[in-house]
Amino acid sequence: MITRSLIPLQRQAMPGRGDWQAQLAGAVRDPRELLRRLGLGEAWLPGAEAGHALFEVRVPAPYLARIRPGDPADPLLRQVLPLGEEALAAPGYVADPLAEADHTPARGLIHKYAGRVLLIASPTCAVNCRYCFRRHFPYAENAPSRTQWQETLAYLREDASIHEAILSGGDPLAASDRQLAWLVERLAAIPHLKRLRIHTRLPVVIPDRIDAALLDWLSTTRLQKVVVLHVNHAQEIDDAVIDACQRLHDAGVTLLNQSVLLRGVNDDVDTLAELSERLFEAGVLPYYLHVLDPVEGASHFDVADDEARELVAELRKLLPGFLMPTLVREVPGEASKTPL
Ligand SMILES: *Cc1c(COP(=O)(O)O)cnc(C)c1O
Ligand code: SF4
Repeated sequence: MITRSLIPLQRQAMPGRGDWQAQLAGAVRDPRELLRRLGLGEAWLPGAEAGHALFEVRVPAPYLARIRPGDPADPLLRQVLPLGEEALAAPGYVADPLAEADHTPARGLIHKYAGRVLLIASPTCAVNCRYCFRRHFPYAENAPSRTQWQETLAYLREDASIHEAILSGGDPLAASDRQLAWLVERLAAIPHLKRLRIHTRLPVVIPDRIDAALLDWLSTTRLQKVVVLHVNHAQEIDDAVIDACQRLHDAGVTLLNQSVLLRGVNDDVDTLAELSERLFEAGVLPYYLHVLDPVEGASHFDVADDEARELVAELRKLLPGFLMPTLVREVPGEASKTPL
């Protein structure tokens, strides 16, 4: 346990850090504004409006700043710009591809795999990724209140086979530090829980999220800590992201990354190799490379399985084993992610 006396030192080490909540609240949430800020013409507007009507646009300034203006093929832009293609129906693409609705024994809790339970700790995200498999997830119904959290905690307490609590969302770090500290304190009080895992894109999207208030509850919990970031392209990792990763690392966090293989974003071997290299520069190890979940509105991102396997075989020729992500798919009803 880190002593309290260290906390003021951490604060001193981070002068003038931006207010992440203001950056989150100030995210671009209007398609026209997004196009204007990036110098993209009116021609993109009808598609952007159509996609936005299905799943609203949301891009905070620090992420926006890493997008090359005037380049419709920018790999970061493609992740956040709504397109008319999202309205196309594609065979096999459904609203809840992972059938998560079938595995919620308590509100805000998904128990599908042995030993670990996923908790929906926040209904919102800092960025709305167009390919997101939860783009149709009924968050509002699954955002638990304090009383409902007590039910979730009771479920965890009663099942001694659960060793790991995975905070997910939405993005769990979009919740306030007060809420997260409250929850993590109660999780740490459950003797059979060993690990706290946090799946988040916030350190990448708004690096200032990793501030003193967060490091306070995170560095003092008895639970072992794993943060799984979500980065799809090396261009997402700038110096501010590297610094945020360093702060997490200093707080005793093991850092991993999961990516989604996306057409037009990272579907070539050099891009994937550069991503792994860049992640490691930030102290992050590649964990999973997911093939796209067949969620309605995202079929234009699909990369066929054979092509995915070929890409990964080529990648293996370029990288040390420890920089290789495992290519997986999530198959509803299976006991784990399924390697391809
Ligand atoms: C992906 C996932 C996990 C974690 O799986 P790991 O293979 O341990 O990373 C846990 N629960 C659910 C519901 C998941 O979708
Ligand atoms: S941050 Fe994650 S959960 Fe949120 S929209 Fe992006 S992919 Fe989906």
